[in-house]
Amino acid sequence: MRCEPIRAFILLATGTATAAAAGGTDFNDQLRSQALAANHAWEILESLTTTVGARPVGSPAMAHAREWAVAKLTALGFTNVHVEPFTKENAWVRGPESAYVVGAVPRRLALTALGNSVPTPAAGIEAEVAVFPTLWHLTRAAPGSLHGKIAFVNQPMVRTQNEEGYRTTVRARTEGPSIAADKGAVAYLTRSITASDAPLPHTGLTRYSPTGLRIPAAALAVPDADLVARLASRGSPVRMRLSLQSTVIDKTDAWNVVGEIKGREFPEQIVLVGGHLDSWDLSESASDDGAGVAITAAAAALIGALPRHPRRTIRVVLWGSEETEGSGAAYAAAHQNEVPDIVLAAESDFGAGRAYRLALPKVDPADSRVLEMAAALAPLKVIVSPDPARSGGSDIEALRVAGVPVASFNQDQTRYFDVHHSADDTLANVDRRDLDQNVAAWAVFIYMVADSGIDFRAAPPSGAAP
Ligand code: ZN
Ligand code: ZN
Repeated sequence: MRCEPIRAFILLATGTATAAAAGGTDFNDQLRSQALAANHAWEILESLTTTVGARPVGSPAMAHAREWAVAKLTALGFTNVHVEPFTKENAWVRGPESAYVVGAVPRRLALTALGNSVPTPAAGIEAEVAVFPTLWHLTRAAPGSLHGKIAFVNQPMVRTQNEEGYRTTVRARTEGPSIAADKGAVAYLTRSITASDAPLPHTGLTRYSPTGLRIPAAALAVPDADLVARLASRGSPVRMRLSLQSTVIDKTDAWNVVGEIKGREFPEQIVLVGGHLDSWDLSESASDDGAGVAITAAAAALIGALPRHPRRTIRVVLWGSEETEGSGAAYAAAHQNEVPDIVLAAESDFGAGRAYRLALPKVDPADSRVLEMAAALAPLKVIVSPDPARSGGSDIEALRVAGVPVASFNQDQTRYFDVHHSADDTLANVDRRDLDQNVAAWAVFIYMVADSGIDFRAAPPSGAAP
């Protein structure tokens, strides 16, 4: 087996490491410079995207990803590397799919089914399209007014640095199908949830209402969404033929893969970080979430290679079913008894752009350890937010609900949703230096939490600033 880049670098840097061993915070400089000196995360991401590729739950590739993760964490120096299996129910599998505008000037459209979409009949669906500029307009449609029609919401996403543009538009994907079905529609289309004009559709999960009718649902690439809207604006009915042939596996095996850097003083206290190993099927999914896997594994491995482990254990969890849900709940259920010992959880699942803001759990902003953390992150151009983290990522949501404090790094997402859940989410669209900066920020953050004794589980002292 070839020498892993991180371990090779640490061996070369032993002199520096020894000099810095005197005090915990002295390692901040070392971790930052080591993270920025080599493409640790990019090497991990290159390996995952090249040797595994797309890794949807229920696919043979996901089993391959499990083996890859065990081998990679072991090679990076993690201990207690193991696989935690769980059963994934109703794993959705894409089938052949196509859409055409029919009539005098037929056009083939670029579209992709939404995850969890029911299939169309084998012969497809042909119907008139009803266009709505936003989801709100669809909700205002009269009951029964869409009988026999394909409902299409063409709401554009606004490009923002944070997730705001995405969050305010994504309901067109997650809730649109059930709203349309309530009005009588036979199928549902959304404009892809992206600000990109590229001719590629973007998939993602839809959530049917538990009581309503389930209709086939898909996303159109932005140029074709605009085309359908322009055709409809000419006044004549637009007809479309749609075929979506997905299937569902009732029960399949899935896994979370775990590795640890054992704490030297309080090994039972856990700082839990990670990313999700599963992905959508349309690409090698470098940004979502190969990047999160690579960033957190690389950051923890740098800490593991220090001459002295931090006082608490760092646990890296690579979750196995985020996109279609299940891995976070499975992890929390399997670790209920450990919840009081998890001092902090954080997931990296915001793409591969630079980190610019860290939101901690509710803390006293005047706490010297928080100020120290802000100072350590400042050279990386990361601010510590005065506002507490609201969520740390979907895979740790069940832990958060169970009482585990969560933190979150905001990353620059200005371009993230250009590639998110599309065929364009490739390694070619990942910047190595941006990954390095993330590794540096995560390494400093994780190390300080694991070594400082700061306890986010305790409420801030009374009288502390909000
Ligand atoms: Zn993700
Ligand atoms: Zn995703």
